[in-house]
Amino acid sequence: MIDEFIARAADSDAADPLAWCISEFVEPADGAVAAYLDGNSLGRPTKVAQQELARLITDGWGSSLIRSWTDGEAPWMQWPETIGDLIGAACLGAAAGQTVVADSTTVMLYKLARAGCAAAAPGRDEIVLDSGNFPTDRYVLEGIAAERGMTLRWIEPDPLAGVTLDEVAAVVGERTALVVLSHVAYRSAWIADMPAITDLVHQAGAYVLWDLCHSVGAVPTQLDDCGVDLAVGCTYKYLNGGPGAPAFGYVARRHLETFRQPVQGWMGRQDPFTMGPGYVAAQGIRSFVSGTPPVVGMVPVRAGVELTARAGIDAIREKSMALTGFTIEMYDALLAHRGVELQSPRDPSVRGGHVTLGHPDFSRVYRELWSAGVVPDFREPDGIRLGLAPLTTSFADVASSIKAIVDLVPEGA
Ligand SMILES: *Cc1c(COP(=O)(O)O)cnc(C)c1O
Repeated sequence: MIDEFIARAADSDAADPLAWCISEFVEPADGAVAAYLDGNSLGRPTKVAQQELARLITDGWGSSLIRSWTDGEAPWMQWPETIGDLIGAACLGAAAGQTVVADSTTVMLYKLARAGCAAAAPGRDEIVLDSGNFPTDRYVLEGIAAERGMTLRWIEPDPLAGVTLDEVAAVVGERTALVVLSHVAYRSAWIADMPAITDLVHQAGAYVLWDLCHSVGAVPTQLDDCGVDLAVGCTYKYLNGGPGAPAFGYVARRHLETFRQPVQGWMGRQDPFTMGPGYVAAQGIRSFVSGTPPVVGMVPVRAGVELTARAGIDAIREKSMALTGFTIEMYDALLAHRGVELQSPRDPSVRGGHVTLGHPDFSRVYRELWSAGVVPDFREPDGIRLGLAPLTTSFADVASSIKAIVDLVPEGA
């Protein structure tokens, strides 16, 4: 049966309109990687990033030096906004002027969540969040609640799925300031109903902040059309921006005049180089920048976003659903009867770019997979998460990885 899947994988790869993308990436050293299934945690380096980083060292940094901040075709100072706009257009459904690249996701989340809470009407002292959200999101919101004397209202979603509209409806009300949810759940890959939940939160008079870490570059969003207030996300996952690459933040145009973030640094001030007294927020999304833009870190981000734009987010989503669907077919045929549990949704319309499988032996199994060059990730207590980044994952990678898992989980185990 495995042979049939391997043959089908070869056919799917031959017919894959995005097959050209893999040659845009740096090849790993011989023997280092048999199949990489963790592009949703750390994407791979593009060849353009490799070239452009070298060029930054010799040209922009090496030769133009400090003049690069303000002079030339693409002054570094503007990169937070220009690369933000590229992400907005390629992946988010966000018109220009609302997306900025800066900080880490954690810090950007703090800044935006804090801005949303501060803008809420008096008496709105609750932040709604869910227990399945990524740890950093939960911790940051705990901190904001403590800092501002607010209360956290927890949703406890089905861990094999994610937050539903009804669950949000049950907790939002006249005390809600802000609702913070992941669009794609980091563990199950559940896609929350962004349009309906955003509407519901607005009807309750509150703001919504969407975490797009596991969406951006895999699952398209329509932030402007949905009327989303705030969003944050990573660039080092599906966008292939590199380890520790800066985050992006989105603030809807209608809030740019009034929402104020708490880290009032000089780079978000009007006319920073006048070094004047007192903070005066810059115009527009620039006010959400705090310190000096992370130029080195943004070079691979630009390359990754440009490749994503070239491939097209709809084609990426199409391939993503095919990859996750194929994974689940193989799971049904080869792993279900071995006591492995499917921990992601079966319906592709509510499933993001990864598939999580659970088994009590998986903390051992994933170690053995890593030694063999098959690289998914492991999520406590028992989940192997297969991240199927569409630009870099082939159907053959799926087939060989599932085969490797089958070989490590004996029948009747
Ligand atoms: C990966 C991820 C983060 C990471 O935050 P960092 O500040 O970059 O470490 C945050 N939230 C979610 C939902 C994530 O998946």
